[in-house]
Amino acid sequence: MNILIVDDQTFIRKSIKNDFLTLDGNHNFVEADSGNAAIKLIEINTIEGLDFFDLIIADLKMDDGDGLAIIDYLANASSKSVPLAIISSSDVRTLELIRNIISGFNLCCVGVYQKPLDVDVLLEDLVIKSGEPKKNLKLETKKSDVKYNIKKLLNEDAIFLFYQPKIEIASGKIVGFEVLTRLCIKEDGFIYPDKFIPLIEDAGLSCILAKLVLNQAVSQWELSPILKDYTLSVNISAHDLLSTDFINYVIDKHIDSSDIKLMLELTESQNMEIQDKSLQSLAKLIINDILISLDDFGKSYSTFDRLDSLPFNEIKIDRDFVMDLDSNKQHCAIVESIIALAKKINVTVVAEGVETASVLKRLNLLGCDIAQGYHFSPPIEGRYLLNWINEYNSHNEGSYETS
Ligand code: C2E
Ligand code: CA
Ligand code: CA
Repeated sequence: MNILIVDDQTFIRKSIKNDFLTLDGNHNFVEADSGNAAIKLIEINTIEGLDFFDLIIADLKMDDGDGLAIIDYLANASSKSVPLAIISSSDVRTLELIRNIISGFNLCCVGVYQKPLDVDVLLEDLVIKSGEPKKNLKLETKKSDVKYNIKKLLNEDAIFLFYQPKIEIASGKIVGFEVLTRLCIKEDGFIYPDKFIPLIEDAGLSCILAKLVLNQAVSQWELSPILKDYTLSVNISAHDLLSTDFINYVIDKHIDSSDIKLMLELTESQNMEIQDKSLQSLAKLIINDILISLDDFGKSYSTFDRLDSLPFNEIKIDRDFVMDLDSNKQHCAIVESIIALAKKINVTVVAEGVETASVLKRLNLLGCDIAQGYHFSPPIEGRYLLNWINEYNSHNEGSYETS
């Protein structure tokens, strides 16, 4: 194969080349260190509409023309059918976004891969992909594989709960933890919610997951009295509010463990707005002293006007607006106005996706109450939680600053 490898880091190009040669030696490599250099090479090598390259592997983030510039070029050129693999160190959400962009362009996308690239996986995907230029087969194949297992997987042994701290900005004190779920599949390791939640929702299994998660998290809180100082926040999707059985389950759980400060973080489900039935369920939860947080605020709640009569407790600003708050004026303005709104209606405001001290400082100046994000800690696996709390509290005593 004639393979074009595009990455601004020499060692990455070299390592991909070596991996190909170790697996299957018969290739011709051309390298480019930027998107623009790659586009020139593709142009020069496309003779009378015939593509020279059999595969293009391109990094997403480069200075002189990035991976998106290559995608854009291929979408507008005659070389639409050249198999393209994108590699990146971005998070899963960004990778998913890139997949969506590529599938919109009808390009021959082999896959979008997190670095370091596993050439073995890429070659497998390429075989599947050959002769199918229009669909993103990698995604679909993987999706149905997981779907096949999803019913079987949804049991207590496969569910692993991680907890991410919510920190009061003014004092640096831990106020609560958000439960983030991972499914553990023997062969594949941890599977993240971005992948399995849509499958669970499609299969109508959302409430089963919600019950399992709630049950496991409450058990952990019951086992350690120290955890009861902290709010336990569990994610639910708007979909779950349609199940009376689920709502009753949550209320019963809360009655059995009434000393746990239980909060539900509500996200609007895909293609589903908050309906009358959901509003009733929310009211029922609120009456029973279960705290409600509106998650991903700024991004979801297209029908926010219908929520204004509900005495919810917390607004969580979506991490996409928070992460680059210190360098993106538009995001800063959005965050500022959400905080102002929260103050007006007297609810706590949480910023998620706080990755740096600089963003934390800005949030403090804007009057945000609580922060959550990698700056404090990534989600922590349940068995390490008490150790983390001890360590954080012993370091934080008397030494906390946001500036
Ligand atoms: P979310 O509720 O918005 O959760 C925050 C997500 O941001 C988590 O991703 C977390 O790991 C990630 N995150 C935390 N701090 C940072 C940071 O500083 N920077 C960046 N870039 N990301 C950060 P995760 O665990 O992959 O969860 C993704 C989404 O899946 C969650 O978004 C939540 O909506 C959903 N989810 C997770 N667990 C459950 C669950 O048990 N049930 C339901 N229904 N949804 C869940
Ligand atoms: Ca959440
Ligand atoms: Ca969120």
